Amino acid sequence: MAEKRDYYEVLGIKKGATEAEIKKAYRKKAMEFHPDKNPGDAAAEENFKAVNEAYSILSDPDKKNKYDRFGHAGVDPNAGFGQGGFGQGGFGGAGGGFEDIFDIFGGMFGGRGFSQQRRNGPMKGRDLQKGLAITFEEAAKGVKKEFKINKYVDCATCHGTGAAPGTSKATCPKCNGTGEIHTVQRTPFGQFQSTSPCDQCNGTGQINETPCTSCGGSGKVRKDVTIAVNIPAGVDNDSVITIKGQGEPGMNGGPFGDLYVVLSVKPHALFKRSGQDLHLEIPISFNQAALGDQITVPSMEGKLTYKIPPGTQPGTVFRLKGKGLANPRGSSKGDLYVKVILEIPTKLNTKQKSAIEEMGKIVTSDSYHKKNKFAETLKELFK
Ligand code: ZN
Repeated sequence: MAEKRDYYEVLGIKKGATEAEIKKAYRKKAMEFHPDKNPGDAAAEENFKAVNEAYSILSDPDKKNKYDRFGHAGVDPNAGFGQGGFGQGGFGGAGGGFEDIFDIFGGMFGGRGFSQQRRNGPMKGRDLQKGLAITFEEAAKGVKKEFKINKYVDCATCHGTGAAPGTSKATCPKCNGTGEIHTVQRTPFGQFQSTSPCDQCNGTGQINETPCTSCGGSGKVRKDVTIAVNIPAGVDNDSVITIKGQGEPGMNGGPFGDLYVVLSVKPHALFKRSGQDLHLEIPISFNQAALGDQITVPSMEGKLTYKIPPGTQPGTVFRLKGKGLANPRGSSKGDLYVKVILEIPTKLNTKQKSAIEEMGKIVTSDSYHKKNKFAETLKELFK
């Protein structure tokens, strides 16, 4: 196993950083190391993967907790193995997206690093990232989405080999297919042998004598590809769903890269969200507050009714247990918090005004608890 860097260090933050700080740091770093901004830069690609991995742990309260306590051992990627290999399997249902990320990294850290890989050895294709905007309702209920992405795919004519149909590449005569050439330098201090990529085959070990005309011999063509993704219920802004094998094709028989779908969830007109809980403010009248009433409460499951008791004070918050959002990684649902706001009427005619005046005479200060207490304290104070 290669030595793994501290997740906080990867994101450039301190241990104890808030959820918002972690999110912000992730966005900044993911932007910085994004493959599209650093084409062909292997170090940036490694960093991009490390940033995504760090965020997948630190954005999950449970995993973050384990990581904070036990370090990398607490979130051992091997624990997430056995979830199926490459291909289409990655349209993760609930929880899939986050666990799947480990399969990639587990495989990568277990094997040889890219830097030591021979140029003609199998190399995994480039990972891609795609931003996807969804509505608040879609995030709450889960949704299947299709989107188009323009990416390199294997050429259909030559099936990715780069050689014209019916032909195959020849072994490079200069390096005998190894892709490397060894040169011996004689110096006054002795002989030195150095190894460099073969210049005749560009390190691939093969010569393409009859290149495929569709792709010009590269074996890859750019194409708009439609991707379907199952977004589990309860995802949040900046949630990342990994679709395995939907990145770009690998080199020399290496596996496909992966596609990271980064979600952005549009805000809702009524609901505010915190974790899996929902918050909502509902205006009520004086009469409703004083006498109690059955009020209609909108929720993600439709309309609910809730009975507010007589004497409800403005700003009181009621909790509707389990009426919040699903957890994409578990079964427990969040709660719905309803704050009642007392609304005072502002458009009153003469008749209505006198009715309220009348009420003021009948409902004396004896009926008010806080008002009474305040008057008493005031009396004490100025005695
Ligand atoms: Zn081709």
